[in-house]
Amino acid sequence: MAGSGEQLAEWLSAYNHDEITIGVVASHSALQILHGARAEGFRTLGIAVGEGRRKMFKAFPGAEPDEWLMLDDYKQMLDKADWFRERNVIIIPHGSLVEYLGADNFIDLQVPTFGNRRILKWESGRDTQREWLEMGGCTMPKTIDDPHDIDGPVIVKYAGAKGGRGYFVARNFRDFRRNVDLEEDFTIQEYILGTRYYMQFFYDPICDDGYQVEGMMSREGQEIGRLELLTIDRRDEANVDEFYKLGSLRDLRDMGLEPSFVVTGNAEVVLRESLLPEAFRLGEGAVASSLELEEGARGMIGPFCLEAIVTDKLEFRVFEVSARIVAGSNVSIGGSPYMNINEDNMSVGRRIARCIKKAAEKNRLQEILS
Ligand code: ATP
Repeated sequence: MAGSGEQLAEWLSAYNHDEITIGVVASHSALQILHGARAEGFRTLGIAVGEGRRKMFKAFPGAEPDEWLMLDDYKQMLDKADWFRERNVIIIPHGSLVEYLGADNFIDLQVPTFGNRRILKWESGRDTQREWLEMGGCTMPKTIDDPHDIDGPVIVKYAGAKGGRGYFVARNFRDFRRNVDLEEDFTIQEYILGTRYYMQFFYDPICDDGYQVEGMMSREGQEIGRLELLTIDRRDEANVDEFYKLGSLRDLRDMGLEPSFVVTGNAEVVLRESLLPEAFRLGEGAVASSLELEEGARGMIGPFCLEAIVTDKLEFRVFEVSARIVAGSNVSIGGSPYMNINEDNMSVGRRIARCIKKAAEKNRLQEILS
């Protein structure tokens, strides 16, 4: 398997630690990843299919990579592993990379990659996500196995749909039957009424100060790692966010309209401060339980996002985890209310580069890559 301990050690032994290049597919959150890598003094590589991407980056010289690798298909990355390694490249994964390569190909990519790529397998299945999050102490929305049992608002989610595409709300079996596409695999989940918060955390196993995760110990019995809350966003979703402007749900249905949940953008938010301890408890639980997911699991490393709804009883319901940088963190390229407390001009992309820089300085890259 790519990125296993022995193989990673072999790759890294040939790397010049003073000449590391940060490589990223030029979409999703690449602007902040490249901008942050440059701010931390790294060489940078942008990977793209189609001139449109390269042209777009000309509008943002602060994030233009030192070098471009132009491809006809992202899957060509798999054949270019030697080329990447000759340039001391560390790939920063994000949602688009995993989508373009496919989860299995991504795991097989023969290039050092930031974070623990095996954990993305747990993230990609709804059942495995639930096992992970519930083990960590998160309360999740209930699932309904039989559509005949729908007796209140539910959200129907298709497997593999991205960015909420195709999801719909049903109040009863009739609604469900009218909208469902039985050709697709779906999950029926209790609809949670409340406000949404997409909390981007960062777990840095190299640090040993700050907010520590209970139970994370080095072999010598010292507490290790630091959990940080970097930023929180909320998605703009078309057209559920604006639906109320057209009248009641019944009026809309009479017009043949149904709410949809397609992400079109993001806005930065902060949590009511008294909710922060609970937010940290959830983040801490997700990190601690990530070590229990499989025999010898390396657990969560780097950025991860808990997607939650806070109800009017001030309770969190976590409906999803992303075990990587999320595109919503683009609202904080120049800092966030939380990051700015500790350091100006930090971003999630830059925090990743900082983690790599510190690990390289301490000769501990092996602990944060796979
Ligand atoms: P991505 O993988 O891009 O994060 P996705 O396609 O897996 O997204 P979800 O994040 O599960 O989709 O959900 C999409 C949207 O649907 C959410 O942003 C939220 O607005 C809404 N949503 C999801 N689950 C619930 C729920 N249980 N109750 C209420 N709303 C929900």
